[in-house]
Amino acid sequence: MVDASRFLLRRRAAGARQPQPSWSDRLPASLWTDQLPGPPPARPTLRGEHRADVCVVGAGFTGLWTAYHLAALAPGRSITVVEAQAAGFGASGRNGGWCSAIFPSAALAPRMRPALAATIDEIGEVTRAEGIDCDFAKDGYLCVATTPAQAERLRAEVAATGGPDGGGWLDADAVAARIRVAGALGGVFDPQCAVLSPAKLAQGLAQAVERRGVALFERSRVRRVRPGLVELASGRVRADVVIRATEAWTSRLPGAERELVPVYSLVIATEPLPAEVWDEIGWRERFTLNDNRHLIIYAQRTADGRIVLGGRGAPYHFGSRVRPSFDLDEAVFAHLRRTLGTLFPAAANARITHRWGGPLGVPRDWTPAVRFDPGTGLGSAGGYVGDGVAASALAGRTLAELVVGKETPRTGLPWVNRPVRPWEPEPLRWLGVNAGRIGAAAADARENRTGRPSRLGTVVDRLTGHQDPPGGSSETLGPS
Ligand SMILES: Cc1cc2nc3c(=O)[nH]c(=O)nc-3n(C[C@H](O)[C@H](O)[C@H](O)COP(=O)(O)OP(=O)(O)OC[C@H]3O[C@@H](n4cnc5c(N)ncnc54)[C@H](O)[C@@H]3O)c2cc1C
Repeated sequence: MVDASRFLLRRRAAGARQPQPSWSDRLPASLWTDQLPGPPPARPTLRGEHRADVCVVGAGFTGLWTAYHLAALAPGRSITVVEAQAAGFGASGRNGGWCSAIFPSAALAPRMRPALAATIDEIGEVTRAEGIDCDFAKDGYLCVATTPAQAERLRAEVAATGGPDGGGWLDADAVAARIRVAGALGGVFDPQCAVLSPAKLAQGLAQAVERRGVALFERSRVRRVRPGLVELASGRVRADVVIRATEAWTSRLPGAERELVPVYSLVIATEPLPAEVWDEIGWRERFTLNDNRHLIIYAQRTADGRIVLGGRGAPYHFGSRVRPSFDLDEAVFAHLRRTLGTLFPAAANARITHRWGGPLGVPRDWTPAVRFDPGTGLGSAGGYVGDGVAASALAGRTLAELVVGKETPRTGLPWVNRPVRPWEPEPLRWLGVNAGRIGAAAADARENRTGRPSRLGTVVDRLTGHQDPPGGSSETLGPS
């Protein structure tokens, strides 16, 4: 990452944003960073030769939860976490704050859902026990249909599955009793979702692992991972177990170039909205919200009364490049701003105080994986597409159990040690990922015009593994 360019870009793109706090050169600018209660501690860079029982690469949710559970399960083992930037720098510190049971693959979702739902409650319990105030509230998730085509698709899914936890179809009046989304024709409610401030969770978790004796190094970029050895520009860590938790940046590591593609998701936040606006919108509880369009959007009501709205649409960059400048895309921000006004006319003129974005990791078959080989001591987890807040906690706990050789219901889940199919070489990868993005937007536009489900949308959904029951699995129904 080029920190200086990040600074300049942030200044240029800041517009109406508030002044940045002094620690923001270490973390990307976002509403969540601004709302941290104080500067996160600056941690040392790893220099020279080190030895640990376990070395975790990456201090996002995956790496931190792995370290957290490992420290509890094997208190005698020395654990070192090495992070290229700062704890919570990646998607974990800047996402949409949905902590859901959504799993992005149709095939595995039903078997993953109970474990993910339990993980949401576990995150609530751990944050309480560790004193991590991350504005956690488990008020569920509402997917509304805002066009006849969306309603037709959602209703078909409900007819096939009964809806999440058997909740069934909510008609327009039932939706309006919870929230007034312009043009909502009905929807589906999933109780298995919480909302939180991701940066507060990431920072709190980093401090919790340190309290448990984990050594956490920042500004320590890993160049290569091998069995027993983690190589950095500034030093080396010899470790019996090496866990890679590098998500969207994975393609930079030798040997992992085609494992995950970085796909960008962007977010805007309004100012705190006045009581009259909330009176018009409703949305008293903090359930998360989206509609059933193909090009995903996701929203939450923050603890301080703002709307945070995120969505896809930013391009995939040739060669799986990840750059700070890619976090900001004027066309996507404008689209989000329009979407905000379309869904909530009462908030159409709200001031946008924050705009940010970041990369997430997408595997070729849209199915996340947890892997550990006791023979080599190498492990990894990721590829959550856009549904990684709860899944990374489940992955971290599972990895810790695999490392200590403890069999649990989690270590038997179908994403554990499943084979991974690499992405195509370029330029096919670039063509395929961007065609999917453009196809999803075109399908939405067509559905808005015709009112009927678009065949193109069906093709895009099939290609991305999205044709699933609500709350069961569909990424079109979830955040990112
Ligand atoms: C804008 C956005 C919105 C999202 N919204 C949601 C949401 O609402 N709900 C949801 O469930 N999911 C959401 N996601 C996805 C979710 O945030 C991620 O799936 C999850 O945070 C992944 O956690 P992670 O620890 O695996 O990866 P990350 O948080 O990305 O962490 C990876 C870390 O590894 C470090 N790293 C990488 N390479 C190296 C290296 N070579 N050496 C050392 N360190 C390295 C990085 O600096 C980074 O800190 C969103 C993602 C984005 C970008």
